[in-house]
Amino acid sequence: MKKSQSALRYTLEPKDLSGHLYHVTLTVAAPDPAGQVLALPAWIPGSYMIREFSKNIVQIRAACKGEALELTKLDKHSWRAAPCKGPLVVSYEVYAWDMSVRTAHLDQTHGFFNGTSVYLRVLGQEASKHEVELIRPQDAAAKNWRVATALPELKAKRYGFGTYVASNYDELIDHPVEMGDFELASFKAHGVPHDIVITGRVPNLDMERLQKDLKAICESQIAFFEPKTKKAPMNRYVFMTYAVGDGYGGLEHRASTALICARNDLPSTSGPRSGEPSDGYLKFLGLCSHEYFHTWNVKRIKPAVFAPYDLQVENYTPLLWLFEGFTSYYDDLLLVRAGICSEAAYLKLQAKTINSVLRGSGRTKQSVADSSFDAWGKYYRQDENAPNAIVSYYTKGSLIALVFDLTIREKTKGKKSLDDVMLALWDRYGRDFYNGKGRGVTEAEVEALFDEVGGLKLKPLFNRFIRGTEELPLAKLYAGFGVKLADDRKSSKPSLDASFGRDGNDWKLSQVHEGGAAHAAGLSAGDILMAIDGLRVNASPDGMLARYSVGDAVVVHAFRRDELMSFNVELMGDRTPAVTLTVEDKGRKGPKRPSA
Ligand code: ZN
Repeated sequence: MKKSQSALRYTLEPKDLSGHLYHVTLTVAAPDPAGQVLALPAWIPGSYMIREFSKNIVQIRAACKGEALELTKLDKHSWRAAPCKGPLVVSYEVYAWDMSVRTAHLDQTHGFFNGTSVYLRVLGQEASKHEVELIRPQDAAAKNWRVATALPELKAKRYGFGTYVASNYDELIDHPVEMGDFELASFKAHGVPHDIVITGRVPNLDMERLQKDLKAICESQIAFFEPKTKKAPMNRYVFMTYAVGDGYGGLEHRASTALICARNDLPSTSGPRSGEPSDGYLKFLGLCSHEYFHTWNVKRIKPAVFAPYDLQVENYTPLLWLFEGFTSYYDDLLLVRAGICSEAAYLKLQAKTINSVLRGSGRTKQSVADSSFDAWGKYYRQDENAPNAIVSYYTKGSLIALVFDLTIREKTKGKKSLDDVMLALWDRYGRDFYNGKGRGVTEAEVEALFDEVGGLKLKPLFNRFIRGTEELPLAKLYAGFGVKLADDRKSSKPSLDASFGRDGNDWKLSQVHEGGAAHAAGLSAGDILMAIDGLRVNASPDGMLARYSVGDAVVVHAFRRDELMSFNVELMGDRTPAVTLTVEDKGRKGPKRPSA
């Protein structure tokens, strides 16, 4: 466009808070003369599942110079407006009633949305400037609402309604927006302003502690990637958090993150104001650390197929073990390095990860490269058979990072570590990503970089642990660093080797582990346990089984659908892994541990 006014302009108004409707108007100054095509993304970057956001568009219409214009639906998420010289105005309503960081939500308490849920893409004009005017809702409930987003203001005060601007569509949809009467605290991390926004009621929230801890985490990550300059890759950053009774999750963006957490995981002014964080608070800080690390790893260092994203179909990459797994490795590790938690607390978190990977036999069948590639159909669409069929590229990916880190430290006698690989990835593929030089990294380039940095030949590790499913030699590697890995599983405890959940007053099998006692006896996920040895199952089945010994035979009655069935179960020893990690390094010489 030659003209200086914006070619594309959206106005967004939270129109009906009780009906959960955003009203959006899009004005296209110079539409495609052959008929402008518009599309809503089918997925949101960072969450690898087709979600069909267009299903929430309630009504849509087009007008050309004030006259109604024909709009033809092309497929599930695209429309074409009849030819119009412009301006073309498209107005639509978006139903927003999904309390998730990936979609949009609106009621009397707040409004939250991702651009992928509300902004139609104007095909052919993605590289143009996009303006958005956010309009304060008329509803009295919204009289004290403010706006939190990292999207740059054009005609708006910070935290105010008004006009915001993005230099292209990709930037527009990478800036979620929170509106409401939220708690807000700000701090600077190496000179860059950061906001913490908390929506949802949290009694006695210790904002001061949160601010202090997040500042330490952010500064340690900025210094990790830019040890010399301590220059952050963004001009400001916003942590948007929705506190609920029970919830956990986050989604990364280039200059912000949307989080959902359990309110009781947030620190309270009536609890300890400093010192070792509680398990819940550590979990929340780990989530913040994870999403913040993505600012570098996946928002700037990216798989080549994400540069650019194709927003209408699946984007397949075998590299999520690097982008999610390595991020999961560093999220906790950087908590120790930032002084947030002790090494002992860190090793407890790591042992938990090891136990979760060892629990499922899926790890012997699916590699993390395949798990990454199939994320769209498998990891994101897990069913009751998941532990027996798939492996998580998050948890196993983070253990692979540990294997690489310890191997590089050991073989280079502590001169190099995985940190150097991350820095090289950042230097070569990340730092200039949004300066027009970004192109993403391929699998072959990732592998070559590992060898180049450490001066090692690591292909066998890629074959065995990333493309293959070989067990990770964690105990052996850790031993060289003064950490003892022990597995104290209770093999003398009788078990069905299945997980249960409450279903009303009943107990229902939720997962049956392959090769376990329940599997061998013919029990299945979904079966309702009625009786063990003729006694009604009304307390926890584990408690009932504790009266028996490994090898005992018991009769289990269960309903499958509505038929009562009987199973002869031979109780097996509990196979639940119980790995612990203990530091035993008095007088040890040699390379430093990643967390030491
Ligand atoms: Zn992640």
